[in-house]
Amino acid sequence: MSTMRALFILSTLASSVFCWGNLGHRTVALLAEQDFTEEAQAFAKQLLNGTDIDTAAIWADKYKDTPDGRPTGSWHFVNANDTPPLACDVVPRRDCAQSCILNVIPNMARLLRSLDTTLPEKMEAFNFLIHLVGDLHMPLHVEGLARGGNDIHVTFAAEPTTLHIIWDVHILQKRAAEYGTDERAAAKRWAQELHNRSYDLTSRAAGLQHYLSDPHPVDLAQPEEEILAWAQESNSWVCRYVLKDGQTSVSGRELSGGYYEGAVPIVDELIWKAGKRLASWINALAAEQSRSPVGP
Ligand SMILES: [Zn+2]
Repeated sequence: MSTMRALFILSTLASSVFCWGNLGHRTVALLAEQDFTEEAQAFAKQLLNGTDIDTAAIWADKYKDTPDGRPTGSWHFVNANDTPPLACDVVPRRDCAQSCILNVIPNMARLLRSLDTTLPEKMEAFNFLIHLVGDLHMPLHVEGLARGGNDIHVTFAAEPTTLHIIWDVHILQKRAAEYGTDERAAAKRWAQELHNRSYDLTSRAAGLQHYLSDPHPVDLAQPEEEILAWAQESNSWVCRYVLKDGQTSVSGRELSGGYYEGAVPIVDELIWKAGKRLASWINALAAEQSRSPVGP
C-alpha cells in the first residue's frame, strides 16, 4: 500500500471517529422532524434552505471552532455550581451570569419570532436552536463539576478518554453500533427506533411535574421557565446516575461495561425527550408565524 493511500485511510478514520460526536444531534433533529406539523415542515424548509436538518444540527459545533464563532463557545452548556452526588440543581443567577445555554435558547426562539430579524439571522438562529436543545439534554452540559466531567479521566473499551467525552460520544456510538457505521444512516435508524417508543414526557426531576405534563402548551412568551425545567431534569441525572457514587467511583475506571449498560436507557430517554420537545417548539413557532405571516 502506498504511503499516500495509508495516510488517506488514516485521515478518513480520524474524521469518522470525530464525527460520531454528532450522532446525538443528528438523531434529535431527525426525531423532531418526524413530529413536525405541515406548517413546521414549511417553516423548517425555508430556514434550512436545502440543507438536511441533521446536517444543520451539527453546524453550531463546527462554528464555535472558527475565529468568528469562538465567542459562542459558552452557549453550549451551563456550569451548574452544585455539589453532586449530594445535591444537583441549576440556578440561573448563580450559574449563568453571562451567555449560557439557559438564556441563549430563549434568545434564539425570540429571534425566530421577531419582525426585525432578517432571513439569514433566522436561519442561523434555527441552526442554534436545533443544536442547543440537544446539548441541553446531555447531563454533563448542565454541570460545572470538574468542568462538566472534562477533567475526570476514564477509559472506554480500553481507550483513555474523559467522562464528558464518553457521554458526548462513546456511549452513543456504542449504543447505535447495531445500526451500522455510517453516522447519518445510524442516526436515521436510531430516530426511527425512538419514534416508535413512548416515554412519559413528565420530568422525573423533583418538583417539575407541574409544567412538564404531556401534552403541555408551549409558552413562547416565557421560554426561560421551560428551558430551566429541561435543564434541571438533565442536571438531575448527574446525581441520579452520571456521578451517583461520587467522582472517585468513576475516575480512572473502565466504563464500557456495567456503567455503559446503565447509561443506555437514560441516553435513549433524553434523546427522545430532546426530539419531542424540539418538535413542540418548532411546531409552536411555525403555528405562530402562519397566524401572522412575516416576510423575511
Ligand atoms: Zn454543542
